[in-house]
Amino acid sequence: MENKTSTKKVRASLGTLGVLGMELVLMDAPPTTAYLQIYTDKRCQANCRFCSQAAGADGDLKQIARGQYMPSDLDEVVRRLGIAFERGYLKRACIQTVMYSDMWGDTTHLIGRIREVSSIPISLSVFPLSDDKFVALKEMGVEELVIPLDACNPELFSKIKGKDADSIYEWDTHLDGIRRAAHVFGKGAVGTHLIIGMGESAEDALMLIDELHAEGVHSALFAYTHMPGTREVTTNLNVDHYRSVQFGAYLIREGIASFADMTFNDGKVTDFGIPDSQLIGYVERGDAFKTTGCPDCNRPYATETHQEIFNFPKDPNAEEILMIKQQLGLGE
Ligand code: SF4
Repeated sequence: MENKTSTKKVRASLGTLGVLGMELVLMDAPPTTAYLQIYTDKRCQANCRFCSQAAGADGDLKQIARGQYMPSDLDEVVRRLGIAFERGYLKRACIQTVMYSDMWGDTTHLIGRIREVSSIPISLSVFPLSDDKFVALKEMGVEELVIPLDACNPELFSKIKGKDADSIYEWDTHLDGIRRAAHVFGKGAVGTHLIIGMGESAEDALMLIDELHAEGVHSALFAYTHMPGTREVTTNLNVDHYRSVQFGAYLIREGIASFADMTFNDGKVTDFGIPDSQLIGYVERGDAFKTTGCPDCNRPYATETHQEIFNFPKDPNAEEILMIKQQLGLGE
């Protein structure tokens, strides 16, 4: 085990390597979480349409959405991660997994190595595992467990990462995994990832976010990004759609309004369920438009470019708030 390449290497995002001093990267918003992925040179056994690493994709294994996860020396990354956490540069380590035969051993090896040097909070993003494995991960020190649904309803799930995509996942099994994980890790310590722009309506997305929120499960939003070597997805991504889901999700998350308070027409939000005077105040605060997910996760440029920002990795400035208002149809 100790001599395997997969236990000597880890994939780390370029931004993470910049903060760790292992790459020279100029950043206007450095990551506040270290983004890592267990190392393998194999393709994932699952076949999600959007993913460069999928079984049937021809994409680059270094790529997760727009991020470049470079194979790096595991011991050096872990050593520097301990220092960066002590100094307050990084507040969390996020480990992404891939489905392959040695996944469990490689994942637990990485978690164990991090825990040897640091008490940095660890998030793990993984497909549904057995209850015993959830318990083992919690005992090893995983603090947040994330099971990505990615799609916002069962039909889209099948098309994007289930049967209709020649993949192995099932909506019910994923939801069951999320619920079992919430039982083990506790409410508030389990989340999912949702990719917006894969054909869902705002109504689909907000209904699901509201249901999960009621079960103590948080939803991190991503914007669909087409990657070279992946199959086509019919995308309905546009920034106005994204903003309405993002703002509705904020109102739900903060307990300001629920899905039941909101009104929709043809899947689009027509009323967020709060008076306009309050709505403007919440928009102007800007929090609603920042990256969501585990605590201290800002994922800079994970799905954005400098020209088009979906998730703000830091507080939006006055000019950006004006733009957001227009995107939400609140233009002055
Ligand atoms: S929300 Fe952020 S920290 Fe949590 S699993 Fe997703 S990317 Fe990682």
